Amino acid sequence: MQHLYAPWRNQYFENKPESCIFCHISKNTQNDEDHFVFHRDEICLGVMNLYPYTQGHLLYIPHTHIDSPESLELSSWIHMQHLIYQSCQLLYAFGAQGINYGINIKKSAGAGIPEHLHLHILPRYNGDTNFMSTIADCRVYGSDFIATYKKIKTLAKTYLNPKKEG
Ligand SMILES: [Zn+2]
Repeated sequence: MQHLYAPWRNQYFENKPESCIFCHISKNTQNDEDHFVFHRDEICLGVMNLYPYTQGHLLYIPHTHIDSPESLELSSWIHMQHLIYQSCQLLYAFGAQGINYGINIKKSAGAGIPEHLHLHILPRYNGDTNFMSTIADCRVYGSDFIATYKKIKTLAKTYLNPKKEG
């Protein structure tokens, strides 16, 4: 598979940060726009998946470098579930007609970056599987990806507030 647009990779290699890209994003708050971070709080961050399965594919990543949920404090895990709960509203507002939510824990389960836990939540649209099959071998990101990021970030301000109920 070819990936034609991956700006974070350039930065990754040029700046030689720590070996874990998620830890790098977590610590470099000044580069949130470049890393497509749409949410950040004391426990985790929300970023756009740079290899999205569908438009609006989101990741939630704890700041702590752990590879399985039980390594987190339970309260941190619940906090992240609260964000997922609210992200359903966010994604429906974005235009989702359905939602997939999931986690691949460790390499054997198919995690892309197995050393640092990340939760996937992505909107689904009627017919999107047909769409994907036509471009499955080569994904091109351009203005659509930037526009999606800006829209998600705006919606996040409305829908994501884990300190409040619901
Ligand atoms: Zn990490």
